[in-house]
Amino acid sequence: MKVTAAVVEEQHGPFIVRDVELDEPGPGEVLVRVAATGFCHTDGIARDGDMPFPLPGVLGHEGSGTVAAVGEGVTGLSEGQPVVIGWPWCGQCRNCLDGEPRYCLRLGELVIGGHRLDGPSALRTTEGSPLASHFFGQSSFATHSLTTANALVPIPAGLPVELMGPLACGLATGAGAVFNTARPQPGASLVVYGAGTVGLAAVMAARNTPATTIIAVDRHESRLRLATELGATHVVDASDTDAVQAVTEICGGPADFALECTGVVPVIRQAVDSVGMRGTCLLIGGAPAGAEFSVDHISTLWGKSIVGTLGGSDRSPRLIGALMDLYAAGRFPFDRLVEYFPLERISDAMEASYSGAVVKPVITMPQG
Ligand SMILES: [Zn+2]
Ligand SMILES: [Zn+2]
Repeated sequence: MKVTAAVVEEQHGPFIVRDVELDEPGPGEVLVRVAATGFCHTDGIARDGDMPFPLPGVLGHEGSGTVAAVGEGVTGLSEGQPVVIGWPWCGQCRNCLDGEPRYCLRLGELVIGGHRLDGPSALRTTEGSPLASHFFGQSSFATHSLTTANALVPIPAGLPVELMGPLACGLATGAGAVFNTARPQPGASLVVYGAGTVGLAAVMAARNTPATTIIAVDRHESRLRLATELGATHVVDASDTDAVQAVTEICGGPADFALECTGVVPVIRQAVDSVGMRGTCLLIGGAPAGAEFSVDHISTLWGKSIVGTLGGSDRSPRLIGALMDLYAAGRFPFDRLVEYFPLERISDAMEASYSGAVVKPVITMPQG
């Protein structure tokens, strides 16, 4: 079928909005009519070749929309059902069977293979030459996405469908790190490095826990202001302050948890140094490929944990479902981060994301 997509032809190339051919859903597959898709830094990283997704192809991995058609064997989903396209998982490996599909052992193939997990690409140009599909199992910078039924999370009635897509990636990553990995105890202190989508999601999530000290560290004053409005009890402007020292002063000692959401190597060290004995540093931000960091051996040995987390851990229906319920209750107001851009303006959305002007640009697809 003919659909409209933003195609990236080559590394660093522009997003070109054009008609392409998409397969009809096969067994276990679902065709989603995309309402909107969040723009994430990972899309930019893939476009620039720092994540080896084959090009030409279609990116986009924070889509939401309505079910347009289901393939053979798909149950529990019918046409018109609003859905978030969640994290892809094989459903058969040790980690998937263990209830940790974020850590699917076939994750690499699922997110950047450029084709179905055990099959060909689903996209072609109108002339018939292949295009890479299934970026994060969805390639949703398009009016339609072909995905697998096991990735979909139904959206409760009454919620704005076009807003929910970003819950699949950046927002779930930050919030899940707090809910599933940190799990702060009453009175805990938590410092979040980087107040972008992931960090602000962590702040909003922390406000839903018994943590009583929630510190946001960033270099943009506007983001620190937003962090305060969303639940940070303290903010530190790292452009003119020693962040580790500031955290120590606020907490009266090391923090219990540091959440590193920037992926910037010197900041990783600051995050590790912000927690002390029995403290936990969570590495969440994606550093450049090949990046390494070092820590102080002695102080790290003393009961300090450094933990990497991916996508917020958890299963999509539970984590994304909870975030939608919290949003509906006014307890996870992530709409404050969002600004909408129509598909033709996807390049402006990327620029707004890179410059920091917009925390979470969301691309709306032409309807009709
Ligand atoms: Zn993402
Ligand atoms: Zn798996």
